[in-house]
Amino acid sequence: MDMIRNTAETVRDNNQQEARELLSLPLILHLLLWGIVPSLAIALIPVKRHRHWWHGAGIRTAYAVGLVVIATGLFVVNNKYATFFSRENAELKVYITPLFALHSSYRYFKTFHAGQTQPFVTLGTDAYQQKSTPRRTIGIMVIGETARADHFSLNGYARLTNPRLSQQALVNFQNVTSCGTSTAYSVPCMFSFLGQADYSPEAADKQSNVLDVLQHAGVKVVWIDNNSSCKGVCTRIENTNMTQNANPNDDLYSDHGYYDEAMLTDLPRYLAGDQDVLIVLHTLGSHGPTYHKRYPPEFAQFQPYCQHDTPHTCSSAEVINAYDNTILYTDYVLSKTIDWLKSHSDQADTFLLYASDHGESLGENGIYLHGLPYLLAPKAQTHIPMFLWRPESYWQQNPQAWSLLQNKKQAKLSHDHLPHSLLGLYAVQTTVYQTELDLSR
Ligand SMILES: [Zn+2]
Repeated sequence: MDMIRNTAETVRDNNQQEARELLSLPLILHLLLWGIVPSLAIALIPVKRHRHWWHGAGIRTAYAVGLVVIATGLFVVNNKYATFFSRENAELKVYITPLFALHSSYRYFKTFHAGQTQPFVTLGTDAYQQKSTPRRTIGIMVIGETARADHFSLNGYARLTNPRLSQQALVNFQNVTSCGTSTAYSVPCMFSFLGQADYSPEAADKQSNVLDVLQHAGVKVVWIDNNSSCKGVCTRIENTNMTQNANPNDDLYSDHGYYDEAMLTDLPRYLAGDQDVLIVLHTLGSHGPTYHKRYPPEFAQFQPYCQHDTPHTCSSAEVINAYDNTILYTDYVLSKTIDWLKSHSDQADTFLLYASDHGESLGENGIYLHGLPYLLAPKAQTHIPMFLWRPESYWQQNPQAWSLLQNKKQAKLSHDHLPHSLLGLYAVQTTVYQTELDLSR
């Protein structure tokens, strides 16, 4: 159902870039060769007509009935084994073509329609800030795209993909799982109070998220999007989408859109006034299948890298090289964002919280990209990088905060921790806040 939702949202967001990257020449050739040509061949076979229509219909019906009898007979004989097998392997239903695709479309449109008629529930109307210091807080939350934890050298990857971040005073969480395996599913979950167990994008859309509650408590919240859209999360807060009205003459623009670094250009603009600020950056990160388009040429450090729009036509090493170059560029963008925050750290408390929306398969067992049903998804799609940066001076003045977070580096964490940690970072008190899901507590 997630892939149906993705497709529907790509169309709704009018995301031509994503559609263009998926509609490649090899796909068209594939459809032509294996779909249209065989269909034409079959169409050309002369059909033997029976003298009376009921004669032909009778023979076909007899065949169909015969097959149903054989299938039912086989099922009855193996009844015990078949029920057990299907119960133990529930994920097999996703392989039934085309029934599963049709069933998923039906489920998507049913839940979408149910959502249209449900009333919106406002949460956290009791929220207020109870800060221990008069200092202003300037925070940035970065939503990573398609970054998998095991390709971050911060998590022990043998290649140095985080040369810059490894020099920053951050706490890196090594054991974090994503809420879903696609952007449309994960992004609203990262800001929802529902928690992964009770979450659905439709239910999350019908209640306040953490950004609404922070805004209610007096924090200025801004969403900057360089991805497809905010998936409904930024509806009630200030937001801007870089993919619309792009300037093709900008140095950080290529014919594929803006490189993520362009998101930093306008940051100073959002610091006017003396309110606490949270800026959310929705990056394009490692978005596939065109990894090679995600970074400027000077970041093509791992060579040779896949330059096709279809990763499965490249060698495994080339795909991994292209992907690792995207992580190297992400490392650069995140580190540059941290450096910008550092330049404000003498007048304000600053932080950067980073988490990817989901991971990515790079051809392991023939699986590419992401979006597999959670039950089936390999760890590559659900094990994500996440870290919290604060200035060194902050850790020095708050050694207990530093040591508390050290204990969580290996702990089993998830996207469920994000909304409550954001409330904690702004010292927001509200009944929707759960201390046990706050990383800093
Ligand atoms: Zn995504």
